[in-house]
Amino acid sequence: MSKFLNERISRLSPYTPGEQPKDMEYIKLNTNESPFPPSKLGIVLCQQGASISHLYPDPDCTQLTKLVAESMSVKAENVIMVNGSDEVLNFAFMAYCDEKTPAVFADITYGFYKVFASLNGVPTKIIPLKDDFSIDIDDYINQDGTVFIANPNAPTGLLLPLSEIERLLKANPDRIVVIDEAYIDFGGESAVKLIDKYDNLLVTQTFSKSRSLAGARLGFGVANEKIIADLMRIKYSTNPYNVNRASAGLGMGAILDKEYFVSNCKKIIENRENTKAQLIKLGFKVTNSYANFLFAKTDKISGKQLYLKLKEKGVLVRHFDSERISEYIRITIGNEEQMQKFIEKTAKILEEI
Ligand code: PMP
Repeated sequence: MSKFLNERISRLSPYTPGEQPKDMEYIKLNTNESPFPPSKLGIVLCQQGASISHLYPDPDCTQLTKLVAESMSVKAENVIMVNGSDEVLNFAFMAYCDEKTPAVFADITYGFYKVFASLNGVPTKIIPLKDDFSIDIDDYINQDGTVFIANPNAPTGLLLPLSEIERLLKANPDRIVVIDEAYIDFGGESAVKLIDKYDNLLVTQTFSKSRSLAGARLGFGVANEKIIADLMRIKYSTNPYNVNRASAGLGMGAILDKEYFVSNCKKIIENRENTKAQLIKLGFKVTNSYANFLFAKTDKISGKQLYLKLKEKGVLVRHFDSERISEYIRITIGNEEQMQKFIEKTAKILEEI
């Protein structure tokens, strides 16, 4: 750190992305990516976009925005395209939180919320999840701040029904509620259908998981047009060209190739349920995940030890050091072969201890 860095940034603890070790080939089940490659149509459109990359991209992302809006059954004015949903989440912290308006979120949830709060100098109100890791919406009602809820939550995978989200939106009409739907396509019901009814709702989604585009950095926000205009002000004050031509092509392909998207989501859900059943057979406790990952623990070995032993055997999963969840590992759902190997290696580790 240089002596020139300002105090706020020097006090920041940056987000720790999942590891990407280069020492050997791993079965990579640690960053919730899709095991399936981008759609072929997306690659063709990506090449077309890349071939005219001497020109700046369209700052309004007109074509992609239109396709996303159609696929969500909303108007283009209700959508903002961003460089990964992290970007729109950061915009929401910038737009809807300040010293007097804290960010309200769970103790166990997406780790970036805490980072965005400190990056933007925003106070936080942290609400503990219940003992079973569920969210009690009553805890968020009448909180004087902007609420951020990941639904399904990460890393637990637990899903709130839309009726509970609606209850919060109704009870908090003067505060923005951000619903982070990074994992909604793996079995949940999206809150997007509520944007016309509630002007305090912002839904964020990503192309990184169900649409196989983690490497393209594409996400979007959906809300009523006034909220989208707020977020556009920030986009045009930071980086109007936040979505490059190649990624926009990949994104359009992902939306147009609906069949591929639907079939990949279906396979992930099947693999998740099969892996879950096998883990339970091995004696694991597994949360009821609606995401593309499982969150599991066993009495036979600590979360940290299991993570380390799996890594030794060439399987990467994610372990979090924070106290309430340190006994768990989070396993991204890969393809059938990857999950079979994960189960075999886990069973072997349990036998060996
Ligand atoms: N929200 C949640 C809950 C996530 O787990 C992630 C992925 N790490 C994101 C948002 C951000 O995803 P991306 O920036 O790749 O769209």
